[in-house]
Amino acid sequence: MNLVKFNGRSCETYRRYFDAYLDNELLVETNQDVLEHLESCADCTRLIESRVRIKQLVKNAVAAEEAPAVLAEQLRHRFRARPGFFSRDTVRWMIAAAAVLALAIGGVETLRWGYVIGVSQPAGVVETVSARVQELLRVGLVDHVHCAIVLERWKRFISFEEMKADSTRSALGPEFIDLVPAVQARLGPYFKMVQGHRCTANHRQYIHLILTGDKGAIVSLVITEKRGESFAQADAVAVINASGLPIYRDRQGILEIAGFESDKYLAYVVSNLNHDSNLNVASTIAPLVYSHLHRLEV
Ligand SMILES: [Zn+2]
Ligand SMILES: [Zn+2]
Repeated sequence: MNLVKFNGRSCETYRRYFDAYLDNELLVETNQDVLEHLESCADCTRLIESRVRIKQLVKNAVAAEEAPAVLAEQLRHRFRARPGFFSRDTVRWMIAAAAVLALAIGGVETLRWGYVIGVSQPAGVVETVSARVQELLRVGLVDHVHCAIVLERWKRFISFEEMKADSTRSALGPEFIDLVPAVQARLGPYFKMVQGHRCTANHRQYIHLILTGDKGAIVSLVITEKRGESFAQADAVAVINASGLPIYRDRQGILEIAGFESDKYLAYVVSNLNHDSNLNVASTIAPLVYSHLHRLEV
C-alpha cells in the first residue's frame, strides 16, 4: 500500500499511480486524491478508461486462449513478430500476454515482445541455447506467463486445506497434492506457497505450483507430461547437476527458466528471479520433484 501526497501536481504525477489505483493497491487517502483528479480532468479519465478496457479485453482474450482479431492485429503491427518462429496459437496468446505485461509495466506505447520473450538478441549477445532446447524450455514458460502472470493467479492465496478439499477439475488430486507441503518445506521461509492446481495453456495440461518471495518474486513450479520430447534427446547441455539430475536453463525477456525431466514428465522452475537464484530454487527442489514423479511412473 502506498501513501502518496500530490499537493496539486501535474497529470503525469497521477498517471504513475493509475495501475496501482486500478488494482486497488493504494491507501484510501491516495485513492481519494486520484479520484478527485479524475473528476476534474477529462484527459486522465479517458486514459484510465482506455486502460481498463484494454486490460479487460486482453484478460478475457487470454482466459479464452484467444486474442480478439482486431486487438491481435493492432498489436502485431507493433511487435513485428517473426513469421514461423512460434506456432500460431503461441503467437496469439503471447501477444495477449505481452500486452498485459506491458500494461503492468507502462503504457501501451511501450509494448515490446521483449517483455515476454527475447525475440531479438541485442547485438553482441552470443546465443548459447539451441533453438530446440529453447522451444522445450518455452513449454514451461508458457504456463507461468499465461496462468501465474496474465490470469494473475499469483495474487490469489489458497490454503493447503482448500487445495485438499478441491474436487474440481483444477484440483491437484492425490497424485500431486503432497508436492505442496514438500516443496514448501524444502524452500523454507523465503518463499510462500500461494496455490497449487491443474491448469491448461496453449492446449497443454499442467500441474502448477505458484510461490512468491522477497522483492516481488513470483515463482512457478510447472510439470507437464511429455509428448515425446526430452532434454537429453535435444542434445541439451545441462548447466548444473542437482544430486545427479541435469538441469537446463534459458532466459526469455525478464524471466528465468530452469528445466529438468523424468521418464514421463517435463518439469520447470520459472520466475523473475535472477540467474543464480532461479537455478538455486530449481536445484533445491528438483531432487524431491524428480523422486515424486518417479514414484508415479513405476
Ligand atoms: Zn489529469
Ligand atoms: Zn496454473
